[in-house]
Amino acid sequence: MKIAVIGGGSAGLAVLRHCTSGKYDTQVVCYEKTEQVGGTWVYREESGLDRYNLPIHTSMYKNLRTNLPKEVMGYPDYLIPDNPESYLTRTQILEFLNSYCDHFHLRQYIRFLHNVELVEPSTGDRKWTVKVKDLEKNIVLTETFDAVMVCNGHYFEPNIPNLKGRNTFQGEQLHSHDYRVPNIFTDKTVLVLGAGPSGMDLALEISAKAKRVFLSHHLKDPIGTIFPKNVVQKPDVKELTEHGVLFEDGINEPVDVIFYCTGYKYSFPFLSEKCGVRVDSNMVTPLWKHMVSIENPTLALIGLPFYVCAFSMFDLQVRFVLQYWSGKKDFPSKADMLQEEVEELETRRKEGLQKKHFHLMGFKQDHYYDDLANTAGITPLPPVLTKLHNESSMHFLNDLVHYREIRYKIIDDYNFIQL
Ligand SMILES: Cc1cc2nc3c(=O)[nH]c(=O)nc-3n(C[C@H](O)[C@H](O)[C@H](O)COP(=O)(O)OP(=O)(O)OC[C@H]3O[C@@H](n4cnc5c(N)ncnc54)[C@H](O)[C@@H]3O)c2cc1C
Repeated sequence: MKIAVIGGGSAGLAVLRHCTSGKYDTQVVCYEKTEQVGGTWVYREESGLDRYNLPIHTSMYKNLRTNLPKEVMGYPDYLIPDNPESYLTRTQILEFLNSYCDHFHLRQYIRFLHNVELVEPSTGDRKWTVKVKDLEKNIVLTETFDAVMVCNGHYFEPNIPNLKGRNTFQGEQLHSHDYRVPNIFTDKTVLVLGAGPSGMDLALEISAKAKRVFLSHHLKDPIGTIFPKNVVQKPDVKELTEHGVLFEDGINEPVDVIFYCTGYKYSFPFLSEKCGVRVDSNMVTPLWKHMVSIENPTLALIGLPFYVCAFSMFDLQVRFVLQYWSGKKDFPSKADMLQEEVEELETRRKEGLQKKHFHLMGFKQDHYYDDLANTAGITPLPPVLTKLHNESSMHFLNDLVHYREIRYKIIDDYNFIQL
C-alpha cells in the first residue's frame, strides 16, 4: 500500500513511524511545505506570508511554555526525556520532535518544501491523485497513492468573530496566530477576546508590558485565577467603537488594540469536494471515529480532536487506521459509520455541546482512547495520561500564574505523583 502523508508535524511523524516499522506492508511519502519537521512548534519571527507566498503555518510565540506537563506530551514508545521541569519551552518540544524523527530514521521519507495543492479520488481505480508543488523548483507534480493521511494541523486558520463595529474601530487588530512577542503591547490598553488556553496565557504574558488588559469572555463564572492588577475580566463585547469597546454590561472602555484569542478553524484547502469531507460549523464530517472519511475510508485525518494528549493520541489514531488499511480489521458498513456519528452528535448535544465542540475530548478523553483501542484491537493508552491531563488543566484554571512550577512523575500506567 502506498500512502501519502500531508504534513511533517508531530502527527505526520507518528504516521511515518508506524508506516515504516515493518509491521505493516506500506510505502510512504510525506510532503511538508516548510523546510523542517515539527509543524507549529517551529517558531518563526515573522508572520503573514513566507518567501513562497504561502501563509506562515506556525502559531508559536517566543516565550511559549507548554500548557501540559511533559509527562503526558510524549509518544507511547518514545517519551520526553528526564528534565527537572514538567512544563517545557517550545524549543525543547521541537528538539524532542527532531530526536523522535531521527531515532526512527523518518527524515528520509519526507519531501521538504513540497506544498500539497490538491487531493482527489482518481476515477475508476480507487486510488488518490495528489498534486504537489515543489516550491524550490516551482513545478507541480502529480502522484498516485492508495491512501492518504492528512496531518496538516488545525491551529493555523484564524477564527475571527464578526463583531459589530469591527470596521469602525481605528486601532490595531491582531489574531494570536500572528502574535510573537509582548513588546508590541508596551503601554497599550489591550482587549483580549477569548479565555481559552491561549487567551488566558496571553492576557497574563502581555500584562507585563501593557498598560491595561481587558479579558473578555462568556464563561458563566469569573476565572478563578488571580491575575495581575492591570488585568480586568469583562463580559462579551457588544460592539467596537472608533477608539474603544462597549461591553455587554453597558460599560465603555477606550482600547488601543483588539487581540483576538478566539481560536482557529479546521481547514483543508487541498481536499477537493470529491473527497467527501466538509467542515460544518467547525465540525469535520462525515468521519468515523473523528478521523476516517466515511465516503472514502482510504482517506484519514489525523489529529482533529482537541484538549487531548496530542502526540500519544496521534500514535493511537495511526495504529487504529493501519489496522483497517492493512486488512487486519474490516470497516463497518457506511450506514453503521454514519449512524455512529449521528449518535455521538446527539449525545454531545444533550451534554450542551455545540457542533463546534464535536471534536472536543477534554475530561473524558480516555473514553475516546479506549474506544479506539477496543474497536481496533490495539494496545491502549495508559489511563494515567488522562488523569494527569485533567489534574494539570485544573491547576491551569485555578492558578495560571504558578501552575507551571509544579513537577510530576508518572509512577505506573494508572498513577502519578506531584514532586
Ligand atoms: C500556540 C500553541 C500552543 C500549543 N501548546 C501545546 C501544549 O502545550 N501541549 C500540547 O500537547 N499541544 C499544544 N499545542 C497543540 C499542537 O498543535 C499539537 O501539540 C501538535 O503539535 C499538532 O501537530 P500536528 O502535526 O497535528 O499539526 P502541526 O504541528 O500544525 O503540523 C502540520 C504540518 O503540516 C504542514 N502542512 C500544512 N499544510 C500543508 C500542505 N498543504 N502541504 C504540505 N504540508 C502542509 C505544516 O507546514 C506543518 O508542518 C499548541 C498549539 C499551539 C498553536
